[in-house]
Amino acid sequence: MLTTISKQFRWEMGHRLPFHEGLCRNMHGHSYEAHVILTGHPDDHGMVMDYYDMKWLIQDKIDELDHCFLCDASDNVVLDFLQSHSMKTVVVDMPTTAENIARLLLEHVCAKLPAPNRITSVRVRVYETEKTYAEVEQSL
Ligand SMILES: [Zn+2]
Repeated sequence: MLTTISKQFRWEMGHRLPFHEGLCRNMHGHSYEAHVILTGHPDDHGMVMDYYDMKWLIQDKIDELDHCFLCDASDNVVLDFLQSHSMKTVVVDMPTTAENIARLLLEHVCAKLPAPNRITSVRVRVYETEKTYAEVEQSL
């Protein structure tokens, strides 16, 4: 029977959306939360994947992002400032929307999934606030 399991992760991170015409163009931060959601066929022990292994799939990326400023590579004003003051910075080639952060995490998880595995789909849901999230899915 197809079964879905999920594990939550939290980190603090700064960002801004230079293209945005409202408040989001300003430098600000969020207490982010990600849910890694795996669907698959349980093994003989009734497990889709050990929760410890789920943590291994993504914790290194969470640690990289925690207390960094996630900076769009095209945002030269902020990037110059961060790099000239030795701030923890992660540079990405995309706007730092919740949608794109979810995709970044999904690609990381899918690249680290051991083969073979029992997983048929991977979803990552990223909460920017308690009320808003973006979710992406990859079928395997
Ligand atoms: Zn924001």
